[in-house]
Formats: sequence, C-alpha cells, structure tokens
Amino acid sequence: MNLTSLSATKLRTLVKKKEIKAQEIILAYLKRIKEQEKDLSAFITVLGEKALASAKSIDRKRDKGKLAGIPVAVKDNILTKGIRTTCASKMLEKYVPPYSATVVNKLEEEDAVVIGKTNLDEFGMGSSTENSAFFPTRNPWDLRRVPGGSSGGSAAAVAAGEAAASLGSDTGGSVRQPAAFCGLVGLKPTYSRVSRYGLVAFASSLDQIGPLTRTVADNALLTQIIAGSDPQDSTVSSQPVPDYRKEMRRELPSPKAAYLKDKVLDGIDPEVKDNYYRTLSVLEETGAELREMDFPSWEYALACYYLIAPSEASSNLSRYDGVRYSFRHPRYSNLKEMYLNTRSEGFGREVKRRILLGTFALSSGYYDDYYLKAAQARKLICQEFEKAFKKVDFILTPTAPEPAFLFGEKEDPVAMYLSDIFTVTANLAGIPALTMPVGLSQKGLPIGIQIMASFFQESCIFKLAFLLEKKVKFDNNKLNLRKRRSHV
Ligand code: GLN
Repeated sequence: MNLTSLSATKLRTLVKKKEIKAQEIILAYLKRIKEQEKDLSAFITVLGEKALASAKSIDRKRDKGKLAGIPVAVKDNILTKGIRTTCASKMLEKYVPPYSATVVNKLEEEDAVVIGKTNLDEFGMGSSTENSAFFPTRNPWDLRRVPGGSSGGSAAAVAAGEAAASLGSDTGGSVRQPAAFCGLVGLKPTYSRVSRYGLVAFASSLDQIGPLTRTVADNALLTQIIAGSDPQDSTVSSQPVPDYRKEMRRELPSPKAAYLKDKVLDGIDPEVKDNYYRTLSVLEETGAELREMDFPSWEYALACYYLIAPSEASSNLSRYDGVRYSFRHPRYSNLKEMYLNTRSEGFGREVKRRILLGTFALSSGYYDDYYLKAAQARKLICQEFEKAFKKVDFILTPTAPEPAFLFGEKEDPVAMYLSDIFTVTANLAGIPALTMPVGLSQKGLPIGIQIMASFFQESCIFKLAFLLEKKVKFDNNKLNLRKRRSHV
C-alpha cells in the first residue's frame, strides 16, 4: 500500500480501524520528504522527531480523533507553539511563538499530526513563492515552474505526497491559486468562518485560513474541523458548523450557476478557457442551469485589492520594528536608525513595495483618492455579488488565468498581480470560494475551476464540487516526480 498517495480520509479510516499505525504513516511521509525535498523545497521546517512522537501517542489512544494520524503541513505564517514560524521573512527567521494558532490546536485535538511548516511568499505577498526570503519552492508537476503562491509550499507538499493535507492562508487567492497550479482542491472559507487567531496578519479584513487537499471529501473533513467559534477571535461567526461531509453527499437539485461573459476571458490562456467551457458543459449535462452574467464592477477588483491589502499590510507590519518579536539590525546609534536599519534589512523587496504603497494610499491628501475609492469599489463588488446570488447559487470562473508559469517569468510586479484576477473578488466580498482540478494542459500542467457561493454556503460548494469531481475524474497520480526531474 502506497500510503503517500492515499487520501486523508482513507488514512484516518485505516488508523481508526487499527489496520495501520499512525507511526507507519508518519514514517512513510518522512521518507518521502527526505527523498524529494532537495527537488521541491516545500518545507521551511520538517518536524521529524516531534511528528513521530505525536504519532506514537495517537497509537496509544483508545478513542482516536477525527483526523487520527493524518500528516498535515502548515503554512509558516500560522503559529505553532515552540516551533519556529518565519513567514518566510528574515524579520522572523528566529521567531518561536509561545502559542499555537487556533486552527493548529483544533487539528491536533482531533489527532492530526503536524509534519512541517511550509514555504510561502514573504508574509503571504506574492503568487509564486519566489518572494520567500529563503528559497523558492518548485512545482512537483514540472520542476521548472512555480507552485503558485503564496501558499506554494503547502500546495507542493500535498501534491507530491509529502503531506496528506495542508493549511494555507488566503488573502487574495493564496490557497486557491497554488492549489490550482498543483492539481489540488483548495478552499477559502467565508470570512469569519475560521479563526484567525495565530495567523500572522497580512490584511485583516481579507485573510482567511483554508485547507489544500487531494480530494473534495478531504477538504470538507478539514474545513469541518478548523471552522467554528473561537473565544480568542471575536470576529469568528458563532453560526453552527454543518457536517460538510454528510452534506456533500446530499442531492443538489438543479443548481443554478453563473458563468462569465466571453469578453471577460479575453487574454487568458486558451487551454484554461477550453477547460472552463468544457467543465461548464459537464455541469450542464448533470442538470445544472447555467446563465451568462455580467459583473461590471469586477473590472476594478484587482486595483481595489492592491490598494486595500497593502494599506492594511502597512499597518499590520508596523509591529516589526526590532523591539519585539523580530530581527534587530546589529548596527545603529539611535532609535530611529535602529528602526530604519532593521526594517530596511529585515523586509524583502515586495514587502517593502507593499508597505510603501499602503502608506501612500493611507496618507493624508491621498486617502480620499486611493483608500476611500478602493473601499467604495469594494462595496460595489459586494453589492454585485449580493444581486447575483439572488438569481444563482454559484458563480463559476477559472481559478487562475494560466497554468503554472516558469520561474522568473513575471519579474514585473504588475504581471504577477494579474495572476490574482479571478481570486481577489471573493476576499473583497468575504464569500467562500473553492478551486478544484478539472484538467491538464498539453504540457501536463493542472488547470482548476473556481466555485463561488454566498456567505456560509460551503456545504453547497462541497456538494457541487463533489459532483463535479466524480464526473471529471482528475487523476493526481499522473504526477510522476521522477519523470519531471528529467526536465530540469
Ligand atoms: N497573490 C496575492 C498577493 O500577493 C494574494 C496573496 C494572499 O492571498 N496571501 O497579495
């Protein structure tokens, strides 16, 4: 039995039935990590001994949790008590948090095993992991290409069988775009569905944590565990969490879905477009009612996101000043110089660019023209979604405008920002959105579709995704790392 290619759901069933030990699973995954990490660099920290010790104690337990023995990789901007959490930044290179994020506690309470901390674009800013201060992660489907970002490490690890599932964070697409690039299912839950306590803040009104998995059922399983109220985060909704896995199997009577006008898709990769239309016809065959819809305000979404996110980031990142938490520059002669040297050296180029952008957009004299305008555009986008969801249950879009791109291909920051064109709207509106793989390009690269629904409609999203998964039959096992290696 090849443990590293089984679904998380299957693994935990085997452990619960005592057909296999959690230790065996962890050993198999650690072996896989050892074999592949020199090619992939998905992890910043691998937790060998600690993961094995947790597995041992799970094996000793009589009543095992819902995630018994599942090796989960956690993005390195999610705090893990006693384990270095770097945000892939020099600023936090040596930071060891004194507590764990609520999501990590929730996973561990259900006997998941955190197997390592994954690479990302510094503080979550980017779409390729090339902005990690340490090293880029490679896409297991083609090592010359990026795994997407910012949760690129979390995506690469799961796609390559180095973890059975992972957590990412999504501020403008950082779970969904890498999941799409690596052939995975990735969910950005409704804003407030999942606690952000212990997630290092990037843009607080947009950030959400979500799972990356190989199957829809795995995603439903993990979402179920991490969702729900948290006394440590007052922004979390107290709405009860449905049993997503049960819900997912319920019938979805004639779903209504909107798709984008052809002109909106101008300029995107033709194979992405083909896959999009093909998936729409598959859905139609299953009885879905499709209608074309116009979203005029979406035109402003990317500009709006790239003002709001940096504005919030410029405020959130002001805490890294060399006084607490972070790196402090060794040379300075007064406080101002200490701040200056610390922040100049501690932050990478993209992070500095965002801080500058955000500070500018919030500064007096410019606030009205930039931040306020963006906030107004955001409102329009929200209203448009609200109107749309009175007519349809779902909105379907491609997840990313193209499959995984090559390293160095997007040196111009604006070209990189365009990767987020389909994903930022869900963050701005706060609605849930899921990506799932629906095909491979001619070059053998995964292509995803995005399913959006109204607030707290994760159950409906899982239903549609589950249905589609059975039709599309995307085969993750087409990935053959040994073969891919020969490309490099
Ligand atoms: N790629 C987007 C950005 O660079 C989204 C990042 C994210 O979701 N964390 O801001």
